[in-house]
Amino acid sequence: MQQVVNVQQPIITPRKFKVYQHRQLDKIEALKKVPADMRFEMKVVANVLPFRVNEYVFNELIDWENVPNDPLFQLTFPQKDMLEPSAYQRMADLMSGKHTTNEVFDLATQLRDEMNPHPAGQMQMNVPHVDGEPLPGMQHKYRETVLFFPAQGQYCHSYCTFCFRWAQFVGKATRFNSNDADQLHRYLAQHKEVTDLLVTGGDPMVMRTRKLAHYLEDLLKPEFEHIKTIRIGTKSLTFW
Ligand code: SF4
Repeated sequence: MQQVVNVQQPIITPRKFKVYQHRQLDKIEALKKVPADMRFEMKVVANVLPFRVNEYVFNELIDWENVPNDPLFQLTFPQKDMLEPSAYQRMADLMSGKHTTNEVFDLATQLRDEMNPHPAGQMQMNVPHVDGEPLPGMQHKYRETVLFFPAQGQYCHSYCTFCFRWAQFVGKATRFNSNDADQLHRYLAQHKEVTDLLVTGGDPMVMRTRKLAHYLEDLLKPEFEHIKTIRIGTKSLTFW
């Protein structure tokens, strides 16, 4: 006997990608369950260190019954201990009284500078050269592996509270990146010892496909046969 089964395609409604940053903390409905003093602490920290969360994270990943212990909450929402006590206090004092946006901005810049945003000379160390010119936005430390920081990929779907690359997200002055695909290709073509390219950020999967293709498609050409692996550092599969 032949049985005909109608299998219905699941209906997937595309969702808009919606992000909240420090100025929108009060617009996150679920956060209203958190005590007011903890929300104030979050705002203090989020004015100094980058904060960004998307709706999927707080609607689908965080168990709000288990806040503040929920690991995804801890991973995403700012906590007082992320700043040195004295730095926290300076910003908290300013925000507790009458203040302007400019005053908060200036103090935040000062506090971030004191935190040594790029330790161990990261902006200069291991930066490769082509024809005597340094290539900012690239690092070549290990013989076989080149790191590339595409300019359009220097943010993430949500920021992690432990992130040691926070300086990438707080302004052009501290950002290490490149939008020069040509320089990347010239360097890789000249360095046959390189087998691995790591495209990193931030999260390069925030980029438009056309931009990603601009950096990567040329690597299919014969002069790049030595490049065996292209890795893209991303958490987009789980955070969006
Ligand atoms: S760069 Fe990595 S650690 Fe930093 S916020 Fe993005 S995903 Fe998290």
